[in-house]
Parts: sequence; C-alpha cells; structure tokens
Amino acid sequence: MSETAVKTKAIEVNGLRKSFGNQEILTGIDLKINDGEVVCIIGPSGSGKSTLLRCLNLLEGPSDGTISFNGDVIFPSSGSLNLREVRSKVGMVFQQFNLWPHKTVLNNVIEAPLLVRKRNKAEAIEKAESLLRKVGLMEKRDVYPSSLSGGQQQRVAIARALAMDPKIMLFDEPTSALDPELVGEVLKVMKDLAAEGMTMVVVTHEMNFARDVADRIIFMDQGVVVEEGPPSEIFSQPKSERLRQFLTSVLG
Ligand code: ADP
Ligand code: MG
Repeated sequence: MSETAVKTKAIEVNGLRKSFGNQEILTGIDLKINDGEVVCIIGPSGSGKSTLLRCLNLLEGPSDGTISFNGDVIFPSSGSLNLREVRSKVGMVFQQFNLWPHKTVLNNVIEAPLLVRKRNKAEAIEKAESLLRKVGLMEKRDVYPSSLSGGQQQRVAIARALAMDPKIMLFDEPTSALDPELVGEVLKVMKDLAAEGMTMVVVTHEMNFARDVADRIIFMDQGVVVEEGPPSEIFSQPKSERLRQFLTSVLG
C-alpha cells in the first residue's frame, strides 16, 4: 500500500462551530490539511477567518465539532495532548507583532524556548541566532523592537514562533499592518518557509502570494467554506457568485 494512502492529516477539522453569545460565527467548517501543504484562506472581512485560526490553536474554545492534529484529537479535549502541547506544536503569527518591547530581539526569540521548553540557554541562543539569520536579522540581535521597522518586527515574530519547533504555522493577515514597501520582505520569509516544507495556513489579502505559494485556497464567507481548490481554479474559474464578487472587489 502506498504510504500517502494511510497518512494522517496534519490538521483535520469536522463540523466546527463557534458562537459568541447567540451569534453563530462559524456554522460548520470541515477542513483537511496535509503535511507540508500551504493553504491560504481568503474571504471578506467578518467572514470568520480569524475565529477559525484561533479555534485551531484553541485560543477560542469551539462550540461544537472536532479538531485533530496528526491524528491526535485536540478538541474536544481528549487527554492525549494538553493545551500546552497543542500550542507548542502550532506557531501563530498575527497582524500585530506583539513583541515584548522591553526585551531585545534575541531575548524575544529565546523567551518561550527557555520558559516553556526548558531548553538550556546556550542551546536556545544558538537556535535563535540561526533563525535570525534565516529571516535576515542577525545584525539586529541586540536591539529593541521599537528601533525596527514593522517588516523587521514581523520577521522577528516569525523567528520567535519558529523557535518552538512548531509542526504547523498559522498566519493571520501577517502583512496587513505593514506599509506597502515592507510587505515583500515578510512574504519572502514566508515563501522560503513554504519551500522548506512547513505546513502553513495563511489568512491573507495578498492575492499574488496566494496564487504563487498556496497549494490550495479556501474561500470563506459568513462562517462557512464556500469554495476550495488549487489557485488556478479559484482565480480563473470561480464557481460561486460570492467568490466571483469577492475576487472582483479585491482584484479590481
Ligand atoms: P475575519 O477574520 O474573517 O474578518 P473574524 O473571525 O474576526 O472575521 O470575525 C467574524 C465575526 O465574529 C465578526 O462579526 C466579529 O465581530 C465576530 N467576533 C469575533 N471575535 C469575537 C468575540 N470575541 N466576541 C464577539 N464577537 C466576535
Ligand atoms: Mg481577521
């Protein structure tokens, strides 16, 4: 039997629902993400994209449904993986970089490995330096975040997430808060990561990135997955009227 036939999914979501108060925001999401796959999620503001990502690493508790990582059920809580283990398998990068302002770049990157992973300091520093090199910021090792541009801060935030050796990286509009001229340097780092085989789920409005880098695109609207497929299909042959309208509004 071929190995791929039996491979478990990096992420599998079934019937995921999430309500805030009496408003249902996610109304039944099914999602399968393969190991090494790059999936971009697109859709109008308010469609539930951030809520979905936040449910995936249990920053929000789903109202119903199941979520598993590599075959381990993480929701409903099964005891096989605790919250801390889930969080350490999943790196998350937000629109706002949220670096510690009173810590240097290096100290931002080594903080979680030291505290959560209990790594020894020399090891944590060595790893952090190699990640800073990877995102092109080794020379900023000892400065504070306030002296960095937004693009540089976001690259540090990516290095910080990678320092925990995540199996999956989630990105929620990582370039939306950046000045246009700084977007490219962050997308480049993400593109390199994708090329290395990282499993990535990226909520983005950067349609060129989605077209070039995604293996698959998911279009969400009003709390459901309306359409999904490879970029060539999603961009050239949208099936639903909603996706057609969305693409017209973002691509002009
Ligand atoms: P998107 O990321 O696609 O723009 P969100 O997931 O942020 O959408 O939001 C979807 C809907 O859920 C919005 O109507 C938003 O107001 C609502 N929402 C998100 N978070 C909360 C919350 N913590 N409490 C109440 N409503 C929320
Ligand atoms: Mg959002």
